[in-house]
Amino acid sequence: MSNDVSTPNTQEKSRTAGEAGWHVSRYNVSAKVPDSKMVAIANLFKGNCAEYTPIECYLLSVLEELDENHPIIERFAKRGVICKFDERAALESMGRAACAGSHGIGLTICPTMGCNFDCPYCFEDHYPRKMTQEVQDDVVALAERMLDASGSKDINVSWFGGEPLLAPDIIESLSVRLIELTEKRGGNYSAGIITNGYLLTQEIADMLERCKVTSAQITIDGLGATHDATRHLAGGGPTFERIVSNLRNNKMSFRVSVRHNVHEGNRQEVDALQKFIEQLAEESGNNITYYPAPVSGSETADERGKQVGLLCGSDESDISIRQEAYRFHTGRGSYCGANNIWSVGIDERGNLQKCWEAVDKPQISYGNAHDWDPANPLATASNPDNLTMYLNTACPIPDDECRECIWLPICVGGCPQKRLFEGRKCIAFKDNAEKYVLALHARIGEDKDKDTDAVED
Ligand code: SF4
Ligand code: SF4
Repeated sequence: MSNDVSTPNTQEKSRTAGEAGWHVSRYNVSAKVPDSKMVAIANLFKGNCAEYTPIECYLLSVLEELDENHPIIERFAKRGVICKFDERAALESMGRAACAGSHGIGLTICPTMGCNFDCPYCFEDHYPRKMTQEVQDDVVALAERMLDASGSKDINVSWFGGEPLLAPDIIESLSVRLIELTEKRGGNYSAGIITNGYLLTQEIADMLERCKVTSAQITIDGLGATHDATRHLAGGGPTFERIVSNLRNNKMSFRVSVRHNVHEGNRQEVDALQKFIEQLAEESGNNITYYPAPVSGSETADERGKQVGLLCGSDESDISIRQEAYRFHTGRGSYCGANNIWSVGIDERGNLQKCWEAVDKPQISYGNAHDWDPANPLATASNPDNLTMYLNTACPIPDDECRECIWLPICVGGCPQKRLFEGRKCIAFKDNAEKYVLALHARIGEDKDKDTDAVED
């Protein structure tokens, strides 16, 4: 049989990759690897970072001219640096779906907004009321309505406040009822707590275990006096020694993440505090890990005139970039639970909020646990705009700069609360992708045989 190009067989000749629909991803960011010929390319949609040789980089640059069966195509596609579909359209569909999609219902419950600390950067106004029995009944009834309307069986609770451990009795009695509700339906119940750790005695740790709490976030702002300077008792008084002693001497069945709110006054202690926490974990046998987080500014803290030297917002520090690189995730169309109808924040009076930072602000509540019905979410909302404005910050974002932005898959237009009340807050290193890519690249070294793939956070 002839191989003449004019035979009918030529019509089966493979196409170029471009003709077959392949194109370079719009969400690649790259950096030259220092002291090497390699280039690190991170794909923000797929959530993958890998090294590429000069030849591979060349092949990527002429992708659309390559034969569609070229062996490099499969490798590029697997890492997401090339694709055959419109990634931005995919993000927009993911964003729409995220508003109503249910993977269980999420309740952030504040049994009290009171707090025994008075941290200068806190975004909340504190008032000491506790959740009444009537409001607790409303919370359980709301959870039941949410399970009915979502078709889901699972409940995840985050205990928040104020300081939730000022109301351990409420945590315990509500947990018992919510666990029972979940079990009756054959679902899974899970819980976590955000606490300052001051009241975390063995008795409380045992209670939390009974309440199926599997994770706790505790903030430590530095070693000794550095911590005490910002995380002191209301009315004054140190807290570092007591928190550390709780973590050292009590047995915790749950994982503890120590969050270090990094600001100008304590950034020099990042490494020392990390070492201290690692040692604490080893000595205590508790599962304790450390993570630094630049503190973000807040309106409330501004009003109180108590902002510390904040790093967030304009922060391009190594801490911020390292933190972001650690949370590298696959692209998504929504930012957080504020974009999802099945995620609800509840303050001690039963007011419903879309965001943790809003739990102390009844003026931006959209309804109350007493009568909000997710089966009819707008008609039963006391202020439907306070619900829809958060849901509508998911993709597609009505902001041309975000739509065109290369960071869209991981930034998704930024924190909805900030966008709504303070304006767009871009990723701090938006104009400096190199540092971020190199931070991701450094993680490739953690396992030499693997690319750095997304870590879901
Ligand atoms: S809107 Fe912002 S502050 Fe509120 S929960 Fe989402 S990420 Fe957090
Ligand atoms: S907020 Fe800024 S960094 Fe984020 S997607 Fe929009 S333009 Fe990009």
